[in-house]
Amino acid sequence: MPLIIVTGLPTSGKTTRAKQLHDYLAKRVTDSNYRLHYISDDTLSISRIVYDLSALPAHTRSANASEKDARAAIYGAVKRVLTNKDIVVLDSPNYIKGWRYQLHCEAKAVRTPSCILQIGCSKDQAKQVNDKRLERRAKGEDQLEGEEPYEEGNWENLVFRYEEPNPMTRWDSPLFAVVWDDNEEQTNKIFDDLWETIAGSGRKVIRPNQ
Ligand code: ADP
Ligand code: MG
Repeated sequence: MPLIIVTGLPTSGKTTRAKQLHDYLAKRVTDSNYRLHYISDDTLSISRIVYDLSALPAHTRSANASEKDARAAIYGAVKRVLTNKDIVVLDSPNYIKGWRYQLHCEAKAVRTPSCILQIGCSKDQAKQVNDKRLERRAKGEDQLEGEEPYEEGNWENLVFRYEEPNPMTRWDSPLFAVVWDDNEEQTNKIFDDLWETIAGSGRKVIRPNQ
């Protein structure tokens, strides 16, 4: 497969779903030749601040230099492990279409498929999650790793900048979508479909010139 690009709005449930997918895949790979990897902003210690355009020092040459650094770190981490025998679940906002294109090309270069797992969640629902986390922080309550809130402006701006995947394009397909209300049964059906398409018998042979 082996590159699964998770994408969705901030605090839309990407990590929740990515972990469910990871658990699902962990069971499936036991009788296959695949190795499984999970890469996320949290595993690479990438802070939410890198996405905050307003938090950058005025002298920074490029407006999003730190986000670029974060992407370089993610790219390096993916490149280090991705082969056609390694399944990588990449849990990060992945909200820029040019970036998803780059990841798709990287997968193609090692002759392995890539796909998108889109986390469908309304803006209101996602905002509630972030607001709750902001509240918890304001009260001084402990925050679990990966559950840090985005500053409000950062969150809004990320939503504004979000570039929806378009399954009509090569790099955003195949696209699998899970929505907030999908229960375990429905989610597993989507994961079955994903597995069949990119790792099972339905898997397409990738040629470098395709
Ligand atoms: P993200 O990685 O996109 O920032 P998280 O996975 O951290 O989002 O999820 C945000 C919060 O919403 C978590 O506390 C999680 O428990 C909750 N959550 C996520 N998806 C769902 C869902 N489908 N149904 C109910 N709660 C969910
Ligand atoms: Mg997350």
